[in-house]
Amino acid sequence: MSAQRCYCLTNHHGPLELREGPVPEPMDGEVLVRVTGAGVCHSDLHIWEGFYDLGGGKKISLKDRGIALPMTLGHEIAGEIVKAGPNAKGAKLGTSVVVYPWIGCGTCAACKSGDENICLKARSIGVFRDGGYARYVIVPDAKYCIDIAGLDPAEAAPLACSGVTTYSALKKFGPRIQHEPVVIMGAGGLGHMALKILGAMGGQGAIMVDIDKAKRDAAVAAGALKAIDGSADDAAKQIMDATGGGARMILDLVGAASTVNLGLAAATRGTEIVVVGLYGGEINVSVPLFPLRPLAIRGSYVGNLAELVEIVALAKTGKLKLVPVTRRPLDDANAALMDLKNGRVVGRVVLVP
Ligand SMILES: [Zn+2]
Ligand SMILES: [Zn+2]
Repeated sequence: MSAQRCYCLTNHHGPLELREGPVPEPMDGEVLVRVTGAGVCHSDLHIWEGFYDLGGGKKISLKDRGIALPMTLGHEIAGEIVKAGPNAKGAKLGTSVVVYPWIGCGTCAACKSGDENICLKARSIGVFRDGGYARYVIVPDAKYCIDIAGLDPAEAAPLACSGVTTYSALKKFGPRIQHEPVVIMGAGGLGHMALKILGAMGGQGAIMVDIDKAKRDAAVAAGALKAIDGSADDAAKQIMDATGGGARMILDLVGAASTVNLGLAAATRGTEIVVVGLYGGEINVSVPLFPLRPLAIRGSYVGNLAELVEIVALAKTGKLKLVPVTRRPLDDANAALMDLKNGRVVGRVVLVP
């Protein structure tokens, strides 16, 4: 086994620092995973920057959320189980896996009901504990390692974040997706993933909204029913026309005040808006709309372990075709993150040690 080599966040806004040392030792129920692919995600940029924008000049500092540095980024991890701690259960050495990163405390009500992703004491890999911009990563339990035999590890890695995030959000609409179109705000990488997953889930189709013409064209080429310019003066009317009188399911992957307001303007009776994006801002909503419409606005944060298992199964059956990725060496970690920051990345970059 070669030495550990990881790219560590030591200062917000500073370059990731290369650290080398002995290969970490799995203790107790932990397993050691040799990384075969680590996706570079927009959330990594938020962590690197150190805050989320709440609008009106308000920010959530990640330091206040308990993110302590130094920390190795990388929460979209594929790898091979190479060593198990003395009490690890169900760890099969040599298995190719994708790692579920959204780990909680394991004992609270959310965790006990299987929703570790919304635990208040999150221990997420690559966010609160060392992640996959490394040769090796420690995973707290083998149950977080999902067998991806037959799948390309670098292509499967983004399932742990963009995949499970869009899948979990779409699931919140329930079986309605089979009979009605979903309006998807944002036709970038996450929107493209949502479109594919909606198809794999047996969804009727998507009406994509984006202000960028190239992204709208790409969405139609990828199978969207229609693409609408969100900056058009009559965007709300166009969405209402395309949905036969108003959008009942709106997936907001942008999460800006402007996109939620557009969704509200295009809403009808029984509309459900699921917000996933973290662009920022704040909105005003008339309270009587909630009962009268009735209207629902809810958020969705990544997804739970069972949902990652389900989406990996969808990929294994071939119903979900994985999105091609750009592979870059681990030593490009800084450059890859800065390229993402500067808008120079098309599709997903996956670091391959
Ligand atoms: Zn918990
Ligand atoms: Zn992510």
